[in-house]
Amino acid sequence: MSANMKRRVGPGQAKPVLKVQDLAVHYQLEQGGLLRSETVPLRAVDGMSFELYRGETLGVVGESGCGKSTLARALLGLVRPRRGRVLWLGQDLTQLDEKALRKKRKEIQIIFQDPLASLNPRMTVGDIIAEPLWTFYPKIARVQVEERVRGMMKMVGLLPNQINRYPHEFSGGQCQRIGIARALVLNPQLIICDEPVSALDVSIQAQIINLLRDLQRKLRLSLLFIAHDLAVVRHISDRVMVMYLGRAMEVASADALYRRPLHPYTSALVKAVPIPDPALARQPVDTGLTGDMPSPLNPPAGCVFHTRCPYAVKRCQLEVPPLRRLEHGDWVACHRAEELDLTIVKRPSSTV
Ligand code: SF4
Repeated sequence: MSANMKRRVGPGQAKPVLKVQDLAVHYQLEQGGLLRSETVPLRAVDGMSFELYRGETLGVVGESGCGKSTLARALLGLVRPRRGRVLWLGQDLTQLDEKALRKKRKEIQIIFQDPLASLNPRMTVGDIIAEPLWTFYPKIARVQVEERVRGMMKMVGLLPNQINRYPHEFSGGQCQRIGIARALVLNPQLIICDEPVSALDVSIQAQIINLLRDLQRKLRLSLLFIAHDLAVVRHISDRVMVMYLGRAMEVASADALYRRPLHPYTSALVKAVPIPDPALARQPVDTGLTGDMPSPLNPPAGCVFHTRCPYAVKRCQLEVPPLRRLEHGDWVACHRAEELDLTIVKRPSSTV
């Protein structure tokens, strides 16, 4: 789909369905030896704020270890945050007890990264897809369940006559379709897709992304699509949020973010996207980044990105740049966003 064919959803709509405010998830880790050890906080998510609108896909990207999956788990209530609010249709999920949270999972579902590992190998496909129905509607008639399951299989591109087969009889892409059918069977409003295609071959990735995009339009779902691959995220997202060391660096419309990033880290990620041409792919690309991502056990003071940023100045080591909204509506956490021109010069055959 060409970028400018995307429908307009997102900010501008009346109210977000999901509003996250200053969310932080810290784990306490033991460090040291036998004789002496100390507890240090790992700031997996450290003050995230963003909104998601009905029918919108928000892509979430960042290197591994940046806190993407912890964010997904915190939104689902699978880990309790240290602080912050997760407002789902106006209700703060962080204040609910386990029982109330379980009820909410009818509305918010997840698709996992490893399709085969996430399916119970001893259950038939029919039972896997039906399980959430039995959990939430224990008195539902068998015939109704089977009808619903067959309908879901058809909707995700599986043959309903394979209802009694087992996961090992399916390919990775088909297993992910089973996972999608299971996530959709309760008619949720939000689906969190946690790296749903990263374990699949490239050709299958495109099929699953197209399927998710079609289902999202048809059912008017909101999607939070987590990936480490910017090229993948672009093709499904209306807006993209870039994460680094547990924080949001930039939240912008997908088109703008790939054309003219506002944050130096986003710019480096866009430049690093591989080119599907063997000759060009061998040419070194200067992303401007230096070094590796620091440990989240010991994040840098000031701007967490300053140790790798080619544009860092003294102020960056001292002051944390807040995530702030610029005039045209996109968000960035960089002291120098207005003065930097990070426009991307498109490489031939680039996938973004
Ligand atoms: S605040 Fe400074 S270190 Fe951080 S991204 Fe901006 S220029 Fe780079």
